Amino acid sequence: MRLAPSPTGTLHIGTARTAVFNWLFARRQGGQFLLRIEDTDKERSKPEYTANILEGLQWLGLTWDGEPVVQSARIAEHRQAIQQLLNSGQAYRCYATEAELTAMREQQAAENRAPRYDNRHRDLTPEQEQAFIAEGREATIRFRIDDSATITWTDLVRGEMRWSGADLGGDMVIARRAPADQIGDPLYNLVVVVDDAAMAITHVIRGEDHIANTAKQLLLYAALGAPAPVFAHTPLILNQEGRKLSKRDGVTSVSDFRAQGYTAEALANYMTLLGWSPPEGMGERFSLAEAAAVFDFDRVNKAGARFDWDKLNWLNSQVLHELSPAQLLAELQPLWTAQGWSADPDWLEQLCHLLGPSLVTLQDGLEQARPFFERPELNDAAQQQLASDGARPALAALLERLPEGALDADGAQTLLGEAVAAAGVKKGVLMKTLRAALLGSLQGPDLLTTWLLLQPSGEARQRIARCL
Ligand code: GLU
Repeated sequence: MRLAPSPTGTLHIGTARTAVFNWLFARRQGGQFLLRIEDTDKERSKPEYTANILEGLQWLGLTWDGEPVVQSARIAEHRQAIQQLLNSGQAYRCYATEAELTAMREQQAAENRAPRYDNRHRDLTPEQEQAFIAEGREATIRFRIDDSATITWTDLVRGEMRWSGADLGGDMVIARRAPADQIGDPLYNLVVVVDDAAMAITHVIRGEDHIANTAKQLLLYAALGAPAPVFAHTPLILNQEGRKLSKRDGVTSVSDFRAQGYTAEALANYMTLLGWSPPEGMGERFSLAEAAAVFDFDRVNKAGARFDWDKLNWLNSQVLHELSPAQLLAELQPLWTAQGWSADPDWLEQLCHLLGPSLVTLQDGLEQARPFFERPELNDAAQQQLASDGARPALAALLERLPEGALDADGAQTLLGEAVAAAGVKKGVLMKTLRAALLGSLQGPDLLTTWLLLQPSGEARQRIARCL
């Protein structure tokens, strides 16, 4: 098994999902999961993208075996394979210029024919070749594709697949244009086959968008005398509208999901569900290791998988709710520290205990903690509450009785009872007003715990006092 990402962008959710399936299958089969960085597109490949991809995979827990193979370091092997195909006559030089190829395609379009290379330079005589070279023409290298060939394979997801050689667009370019005594830059289908064969890959698990390449690649395996791997083409990830998820859909990189406060555990869990149905009774919340114990391609769907934010949010909240306060603190502390928020570790853990059950994302853990570190403004509803009948007298009665320093829950309840009696209001009035005073809002976590957390530092007193 291998993942072969191109470092031309950050780790995309589609690539990460492909990585998940590779990883699960490797674990299930007791095989290896290898990584190959396909950086042959020199203009668009960037080291920071490679770093982002490796970091994203690591963060998700998709550990790979051995060192990543860097494709650009293997160009000598790629050229050697091309030379082998030239020597055996399975590849040849094509001197057609871009202008000639464009004219050819325009002609085909005018005749309502599908665009394809018409194999015009397949059988040049040495004299014809010399004449083109004398003209100063450079050549691409093309691999012969027999129109009458039938290419079949059994795809682990899609079952029996069958392609006709005639549908592959004519003899395929395997090396870019270069002077005729050289071999130009090797192209994708060739290098993928050479590398997968060299890495002894037994199973190629990749996105369905590569399905049209598979027939060509199988012909290359045969021509190079290398055993072909088994293929599994996984369904695409679709957006809400049912179209392929793309950059326009906003959040598509693993690092974006991370920045939005999704946990690695929830994202990995969710990606597993994107296209795979767990066996009966397993439920939808599981770890990668649990999924690996039962993963197989029989349960991978052929149809595209629609991205479902509600499910991801549900899984993320499940993961956050399973964390102990100390574990949640470990997740939230970096976010809080970045805001300049700090406090005694015990107090921070108590805050995590309070906020944990209501969090959907870690980002919520930032916003919901804010009023505990920064004194909030009073919103409209809170101001209205303070202006309502009996509100301020009740709060004043509480402030009069409020001790310095920490309080426990029983002590706080007693004070509330006394203040309510003294002010002659219902308990609900004081509770609502106290919430408005402490949090600046009528919404928020458990009131008593909130108060107890704000009490020791004197912050509760100051927030109440400012409302009077
Ligand atoms: N480098 C290719 C890509 O990023 C993957 C090729 C493959 O998996 O065969 O789409």
